[in-house]
Amino acid sequence: MQIAMMAQNANLYSHKRLKEAAEARGHDFTIIKTLGCYMNIASRRPEVYYNGEKLPKYDAVIPRIGASVTFYGLAVLRQFEMQGVYPLNESVAIGRSRDKLRSMQLMARDGIGLPVTTFAHDPKQTEEVLKIAGGAPTVIKLLEGTQGIGVVLADTDRSAKSVIEAFRGANVNIMVQEFIKEAGGTDIRALVVGGKVIAAMKRTGAEGEFRSNLHRGGSAQTIKISPEERATAIRAAKSMGLNVCGVDMLRANHGPVVMEVNSSPGLEGVEKATGIDIAGKIVEFIEKNARPGKTSTRGR
Ligand code: ADP
Ligand code: GLU
Repeated sequence: MQIAMMAQNANLYSHKRLKEAAEARGHDFTIIKTLGCYMNIASRRPEVYYNGEKLPKYDAVIPRIGASVTFYGLAVLRQFEMQGVYPLNESVAIGRSRDKLRSMQLMARDGIGLPVTTFAHDPKQTEEVLKIAGGAPTVIKLLEGTQGIGVVLADTDRSAKSVIEAFRGANVNIMVQEFIKEAGGTDIRALVVGGKVIAAMKRTGAEGEFRSNLHRGGSAQTIKISPEERATAIRAAKSMGLNVCGVDMLRANHGPVVMEVNSSPGLEGVEKATGIDIAGKIVEFIEKNARPGKTSTRGR
């Protein structure tokens, strides 16, 4: 097959592994820089250009669209979808998962366990929002944050209020969440491919750190997840419409709660922690599922 991967940085572990796995299976694999693509939005002739050339009609495209290039990257991906190229993850599904409020609303609609999460635009509602979130300790998150940056634990209502005010002053969107203390600084990342959990790891924060992100000094280990956790991860993927994703969950007293669904999950931590060939399984999924025109949305 002719497979293209949209990625800004060809040298990332995940991207090198996907290329390796595809080539080992005899596929023709091209990496195209998302921001280097340009398009001709002509009636009924969707095309994508790159380095002075019109790109061929690939059999499949793997979107690895970084958070900072979501807007443009999704436009490029829609163009491929309109050509009938099979997308590993569809543009609309990536769009859903990139919007924290939208994704939580969709998961709530589908009855998936979530931390109590509140949000308000108007700073006058700060006290109300804090009250609904159950009061301190509380977690305050930047809507646009990644890698644990912009996630703050406030121990008292008073500090929560000043953190909220500081974020507001910086004109950024935030949400306020109940603090799942019993998770003990550990979260679970389940890798879902084609409606199945193919690997799971737990990530534990550095000493004294409630955030378990590997970028914040956390460490990863393989973990056996419960049937309920497995079902939750699969339902979260389905709720977003993602074929491949990383579902981040916390173990709350009342069961698993989903924090986030990542449409471009990093492969390094989870492959190294579990020893599972995730890149290979992703390519296998493409082999079994890629068909021309097989998108449910065609860029819509
Ligand atoms: P990011 O998307 O920046 O990684 P997350 O929302 O995943 O931000 O939060 C980073 C980490 O902080 C999580 O992996 C988890 O360990 C911890 N965390 C986030 N929200 C909560 C919460 N409501 N209760 C307890 N711990 C949390
Ligand atoms: N780098 C990945 C992304 O841009 C996120 C890594 C991860 O947390 O899985 O989506």
